[in-house]
Order: sequence, then structure tokens, then C-alpha cells
Amino acid sequence: MDFKCLKCGNEKYQVRTTFCAEKTPGLKLELGTYYLKICLNCGYTEMYSAKVLDKDEELKPEY
Ligand SMILES: [Zn+2]
Repeated sequence: MDFKCLKCGNEKYQVRTTFCAEKTPGLKLELGTYYLKICLNCGYTEMYSAKVLDKDEELKPEY
């Protein structure tokens, strides 16, 4: 995935994985995985749902 910061146009970023509790249609709580892409220049953060993303593309988060 190419990344360009929407705010400053910087191309350097860091990927983090985070977990959020989310409600499923059956009202069960389940943990959803999200990727955070953080601009190393201004700190602008984009959030992606790993569930959606992993269907067609594999993203390897760097820790
Ligand atoms: Zn930026």
C-alpha cells in the first residue's frame, strides 16, 4: 500500500496494530484488529480495519 500523508504529503510512516472492542450484529462484543498508519512527520493517523484489508492484501505491520 502506498501512503502519502493527507495533511503534509510526507511518505514516511509507521504501522501499528491495535485492538478495539466492537459490536457484532448479534450484539456480541468481539475484538477487531485495526492497523494504524502514523505519519512520522506530523503525526496524522489513518486507521484501517484489518478484517477488511486482509481479504485481498497482506500488510505486515512493523513493530
Ligand atoms: Zn503528515
